[in-house]
Amino acid sequence: MTAVKRLYVFLVGYEVLPKTVSTRDRGASTIMAEPVCAYLIETERGLVLFDTGVNSDNLKDAALRNRLYPYPAWLAPSIVLPEHELLPQLARIGVAPADIATVVISHSHCDHIGNLRHFRHADIHIQRREYEYAMGPHGNGAVFNSDFDFPDVKWRLHDGDWTVCPGIEAILTDGHMPGHQSLVVTLPSGAVKILVVDAGDLAENFRDEVLPGECIGGEAEALAAIRRIKRIAAERNGEIVLFHDPDYVHALRLAPDFYK
Ligand SMILES: [Zn+2]
Repeated sequence: MTAVKRLYVFLVGYEVLPKTVSTRDRGASTIMAEPVCAYLIETERGLVLFDTGVNSDNLKDAALRNRLYPYPAWLAPSIVLPEHELLPQLARIGVAPADIATVVISHSHCDHIGNLRHFRHADIHIQRREYEYAMGPHGNGAVFNSDFDFPDVKWRLHDGDWTVCPGIEAILTDGHMPGHQSLVVTLPSGAVKILVVDAGDLAENFRDEVLPGECIGGEAEALAAIRRIKRIAAERNGEIVLFHDPDYVHALRLAPDFYK
């Protein structure tokens, strides 16, 4: 029995980057504009937000933007148009941040945890290993501690797979990062959606089992995560829902539309 009622997919911005960031050793000369998503799952037990997008405040101030997105480590800062902003998109479906009591974070990269500051009233669920990495001396240029290291965050730390509620399973898919997690969502229709996030950015990562460009949590782990997701998709007739693949995301039914 699933407690899930609806799944909303939000397009919350873009990143301009060499394809090698997504596919190890493939496409160094191909510069892509990759979408960034966030998900809201409406359940009988309340709203669950999965990832939060990019903090656009970091893009508005030139000095801050240049410090966080230095060239050439970043080819360009993230793109967040007013149409991409998460809070107005939530408002459009009648949801205020205060209505959301449960936030699940896939991993600590800035395009996933960027809007955490709006959800400090909520429980913030993250893998313990990811939390410890992010709060430690990581030196990772895509982890912006100023976006999430607030004293009043209600962190809820997990060690491996856990159940968010009936119909939403969190699975450890580490490799890209030390504590990356994905969600397996069972909709009322019976359809199974695997929200893989950065375990594999593009369809190619799964088709050809190509590693993500960055495997801070280990290459063997990243490959195991890709294979684990493929296995779940095969066993449960699940759909691999891609987070950064432009062709895939642009073909989705984006919010305010939804899946059920
Ligand atoms: Zn990432």
